[in-house]
Amino acid sequence: EALYRIEGWGQPYFSISAAGHITVSPKGDRGGSLDLFELVNALKQRNLGLPLLIRFSDILSDRIERLNACFAKAIARYNYPGIYRGVFPVKCNQQRHLIEDLVKFGKPHQFGLEAGSKPELMIALAMLDTPGALLTCNGYKDREYIETAMLAQRLGQTPIIVLEQIEEVDLVIDANRQLGIKPILGVRAKLSTQGMGRWGTSSGDRAKFGLTMPEIIDAVDKLRQADLLDSLQLLHFHIGSQISAINVIKDAIQEASRIYVELAMLGADMKYLDVGGGLGVDYDGSQTNFYASKNYNMQNYANDIVAELKDTCAEREIAVPTLISESGRAIASHQSVLIFDVLSTSEIPLDPPEPPEEGESPVINYLWETYQGINKENFQEFYHDAAQFKEEAISRFNLGILRLRERAKAERLYWACCHKILDITRQQEYVPDELEDLEKIMASIYYINLSVFQSAPDCWAIDQLFPIMPIHRLGEEPTRRGILADLTCDSDGKIDRFIDLRDVKSVLELHNFKPGEPYYLGMFLNGAYQEIMGNLHNLFGDTNAVHIQLTPKGYQIEHVVKGDTMSEVVSYVQYDSEDLVEKIRQRCEHALEENRITLAESQRLLQTYEQSLRRYTYLNG
Ligand code: PLP
Repeated sequence: EALYRIEGWGQPYFSISAAGHITVSPKGDRGGSLDLFELVNALKQRNLGLPLLIRFSDILSDRIERLNACFAKAIARYNYPGIYRGVFPVKCNQQRHLIEDLVKFGKPHQFGLEAGSKPELMIALAMLDTPGALLTCNGYKDREYIETAMLAQRLGQTPIIVLEQIEEVDLVIDANRQLGIKPILGVRAKLSTQGMGRWGTSSGDRAKFGLTMPEIIDAVDKLRQADLLDSLQLLHFHIGSQISAINVIKDAIQEASRIYVELAMLGADMKYLDVGGGLGVDYDGSQTNFYASKNYNMQNYANDIVAELKDTCAEREIAVPTLISESGRAIASHQSVLIFDVLSTSEIPLDPPEPPEEGESPVINYLWETYQGINKENFQEFYHDAAQFKEEAISRFNLGILRLRERAKAERLYWACCHKILDITRQQEYVPDELEDLEKIMASIYYINLSVFQSAPDCWAIDQLFPIMPIHRLGEEPTRRGILADLTCDSDGKIDRFIDLRDVKSVLELHNFKPGEPYYLGMFLNGAYQEIMGNLHNLFGDTNAVHIQLTPKGYQIEHVVKGDTMSEVVSYVQYDSEDLVEKIRQRCEHALEENRITLAESQRLLQTYEQSLRRYTYLNG
């Protein structure tokens, strides 16, 4: 368990069973669990091939419950005379089944939605049917966006148009004059509190979104002149996603709560404070401020927000706001698990080397002696020797002095030296810098039935870490260390950075792959952002996805969303499957005429071609 740190990131949803399989407890501590390996086998029997994305609706529900419970607890603890009304940022995962579930599970808490673009607004307006839930409207806006949001008030919705660019103030004033509808407005502030890590540039004066303080004052003046200052009811900020350190959140809340009371004092009818996203996910389970982790929990987060607002508002005798957070990652990450299989491996040979034979080159002798002599005291020095002898063997080969068989033997001896040295370094507390890469050099390559570009784009684009581990054979010692290479013909299509305690490791502990036997790996906590940002590199399409819900008797498959077929992916790049088949048919006819193919062969080719187009883009593992 310690190897994969599952007790850190997996709580309370994922653990290891006595059978050495991953157990999923979708309701967290509230009971009910299932065996992930058995679930995958059962799904495979229903013709759902890997890679397969499994969404656990109960986890989604549990995340919503937890977030609301944390705010409720903080509100009670600090006697906060206001409420919390969360919204889910649609950008985080727009899949219809997920948004439907989210709205359904969020109903008891009047959980709303956040739209960050026009298409997301279209989804949010149609899907959100919870009375009293908020719909925050962010992102770039044109007149159409603003009018749509304003008119939706007539449907009983509560859309809040958040001004993110100064130009939007005039658009809103104009729309109000034309429609005669008073909008509910918010303003996004560019805080001076700097976010951190990858998304740190989401705040500060040069941030892409939000108004600077002079712009906020201009907006207030303009709205006052247009008799719309009472429409301004919300202050929003977002200092970036995955904030790892609680002090950054505290600083931002402090600054924002000051701006909030000032806006109220300027005459705006302030009612809401929207703290944006940023609530982190502990991907490596270390509970630290490492970028793949966070040094606080959801309760600390809620407490700090509630306490700071209560104090600042009390100091200025301003009514406290309804608190809104736009937590995406913290709500959606845990609910989906991506399962993929290993197709084959490539390993550096582990067999014991053979001693030199009469008449072989002296370099083989040197390598053999080095191999035999390696011990705890000299391993660093002998590593250099081995490398030097191997270089020498290659030079001799290039000069024609060494035969191919001898070169092969020299290389095998060199790898044997490296293995021996690696075994020693693994037992050392301190590993010399020059030997640090040895683990990587010696890593096995596990070829996986997956496209990193489609299913884990953040691994490739921004070096994000997700927990990855086998979902079975966990009672067995993983004797290999490997990296994962995906199906694309792109050397970037690999995963060679894995979670470690407050760090990143370059190899993953894996079991020896037995051809013909399934070996399934899972990538966890990847329910946020990955699906929509995935791309069709090499035309690997969307994976199969299923929604699983626990029932008193076990589980039920709520929805199956079949992954793309080849026919679908080729149509995205404007090919028509029938045209393609027709082209192949004509070529067959041609080849038949010229006696280059038999009729049986041509029929077989056409049949396979047509069948393939209807099939999944991934390999049949
Ligand atoms: N709100 C806004 C304005 C955002 O840009 C984002 C994403 O970065 C979010 C909310 C969601 O953030 P997170 O997923 O960190 O909760």
